[in-house]
Amino acid sequence: MERLQKVLAQAGVASRRKCEEYIEAGRVQVNDETVTTLGVKVDPDVDAIKVDGRPINRQKKTYLLFNKPRGVITSAKDPEGRKVVADYLHGVKERVYPVGRLDYDTEGLLLLTNDGELANLLTHPKHHVPKTYHATVKGVPHGELLDKLRTGVQLEDGMTAPAEVEYVDINPDKNETIVSITIYEGRNRQVRRMFDAIKFPVEKLRRVQFGPLTVSGLMRGKYRALTAAEVAELR
Ligand code: URA
Repeated sequence: MERLQKVLAQAGVASRRKCEEYIEAGRVQVNDETVTTLGVKVDPDVDAIKVDGRPINRQKKTYLLFNKPRGVITSAKDPEGRKVVADYLHGVKERVYPVGRLDYDTEGLLLLTNDGELANLLTHPKHHVPKTYHATVKGVPHGELLDKLRTGVQLEDGMTAPAEVEYVDINPDKNETIVSITIYEGRNRQVRRMFDAIKFPVEKLRRVQFGPLTVSGLMRGKYRALTAAEVAELR
């Protein structure tokens, strides 16, 4: 038996706190009875639980690591008919959702799950999950500019938090540099905007790590299930 708000959050209804509000507001029914107190425990495999009259999602918990190619949209559908992540998830019956987003032109590691509670936890700004990207830029940004990225740059939505920044490869033949940057926030197009701020616009962006998970060994366009140990490490 588990607490009702926990079961609701795990089903992806909302955060645990928000689910408590839904319960107190009389929006949740267990076996057709409205529950308005917070102590109630339920068996998610037996009890019929509804929010606003609709049954909650009771699929098997699924956690996938996907190596997103460039030119793919991180959403379920695209009105313009471009490729979406779901086009690559052959054989996945559960309805999984991306944890955060990658831009259309960004490739690399994307976590997908139907565990709404974990997704809420990992995307909550307080959680500070480290995310590492490899950004390719034209030319060579010198050390002081990388220092600016480390300490924080001013963006339209405020200063960025401290980040870890290293050169990965300086390639004079191609006149390009690959820089590794680890950020602990998840603002929209954050890495691209940070490099714009130092006047070295990103030509190519790849997420190589998300928390403890890395994309190594996974081909572009392929996915794999996380192991139980990897899921435990994420919490
Ligand atoms: N930062 C970006 O600019 N783009 C992404 O896709 C992810 C992080």
